[in-house]
Amino acid sequence: MKFGPDVLIVGAGPAGLAAAARLARLGVDDVLVVDREPQGGGMPRFCAHPTFGLTDFWRPMSGPSYAAAWRKRVDPGKVMTSTTITRIGRNGEVSAATAEGELTLTPKRILLATGIRERSRSARLVSGDRPRNVLTTGALQRLVSAGTQLPFRRPVIVGTELVAFSALLMLREHGVVPVAMLERQSRIVTWRPGDVVAGTIFHTPVLCNHRLVSINATPQDASRLESVTVQTATGQRDILCDAVIFTGEFTPEASLLGELPELLLPGSGGPSVDQDWRTESPMIFAAGNILRSVETAAWSAREGAAAASAIAADLGGRPSGRRIPIEVSGAVASVVPSAISVPASRLGALQMQARMKTTAHGHFSLSADGTEVWRSRRLTALRERRYGLTRTLPELAKVTGLTLSFIGAD
Ligand SMILES: Cc1cc2nc3c(=O)[nH]c(=O)nc-3n(C[C@H](O)[C@H](O)[C@H](O)COP(=O)(O)OP(=O)(O)OC[C@H]3O[C@@H](n4cnc5c(N)ncnc54)[C@H](O)[C@@H]3O)c2cc1C
Repeated sequence: MKFGPDVLIVGAGPAGLAAAARLARLGVDDVLVVDREPQGGGMPRFCAHPTFGLTDFWRPMSGPSYAAAWRKRVDPGKVMTSTTITRIGRNGEVSAATAEGELTLTPKRILLATGIRERSRSARLVSGDRPRNVLTTGALQRLVSAGTQLPFRRPVIVGTELVAFSALLMLREHGVVPVAMLERQSRIVTWRPGDVVAGTIFHTPVLCNHRLVSINATPQDASRLESVTVQTATGQRDILCDAVIFTGEFTPEASLLGELPELLLPGSGGPSVDQDWRTESPMIFAAGNILRSVETAAWSAREGAAAASAIAADLGGRPSGRRIPIEVSGAVASVVPSAISVPASRLGALQMQARMKTTAHGHFSLSADGTEVWRSRRLTALRERRYGLTRTLPELAKVTGLTLSFIGAD
């Protein structure tokens, strides 16, 4: 079977559902949202704690309620679940695997809202034994949402990104108190009171300047985790624990662009988009977590809605303009958007979001064809933390390339 909706949205997480809701509001009706899971809602479906909804539904909501609120805003007839998009061809043809067999779709526009996946233990190059109970937060979420009794009592959490604190909450709800949170930098990645709250309210110390070196099993049973070895400023030591939960270090779920590698950014692994969320392919847009490491659900939903507005304008015939890449250099790992298209109405105040490869002290600097056009105030920029940079750009008629760098020392 072959059919072509005006807009195919791949992924029914907050970004995909918010995009579908916005398209409906804008009168774009021929929309299909596809998700490989049996129910839409994306990642929040698996997070029971009430840390969603504050900046979009204006109240604290659990992840499942938040996911349900987005599902309610979209006509269920437009959402196809238990369906995996397996391929996007160079000619724009899309293959989908359903329970009934393969489908071919020929959409006019595609919005990729496929989120992120977590880096496995092997990708993080942690040495040592291979016991049970070494998990990512995704695996933890699935264990918890399946109602399974957690097979450990004293885990360590690796990382201090927002998601690490989400894992801490999730564990606490199940009566598990992690023995420590490990951070290899000198301060936590997310906002400062996080470590105080973890230590005083949750009784889990946050250990900065602690890098995980190896995972150790008991000598008697190679499948039983006994401790982790950490590197500190003064040497190595072991911390007794019975599980390791890796958090953060997500990578964009962009495997669907395997046949279109030119759309991917080498630094982030996600697609390059301009300020209208358009990739270098005129028919493919992307929004939400696929563009970066992890963001909040509300942020992803806002991006999905903004991408939908751009797609609606595009279907209505708005010209896309000339694309100017925004490259990153030095300690800057990625920037979203990573290109701008001119002329465009929103260029007055361009919002960029940058992430760092390493922690550094100094300032962000934006240059146009080698000439600095803006620099930020001085700051200590942390690895993995996101930095919002809003900038009114100068006349770009003759500019061929922009570069965002961080000038300063580690
Ligand atoms: C452990 C954890 C805790 C978090 N806690 C919070 C929190 O407390 N508060 C908060 O605001 N945010 C939190 N977040 C972040 C939040 O979950 C994300 O920002 C949000 O879900 C991103 O939305 P998205 O639509 O971009 O992606 P996702 O929610 O990941 O949705 C992507 C969807 O795409 C589908 N998909 C992927 N590939 C395909 C394919 N090939 N075919 C079909 N479907 C596909 C997936 O099944 C998924 O449903 C947390 C994230 C994690 C990992």
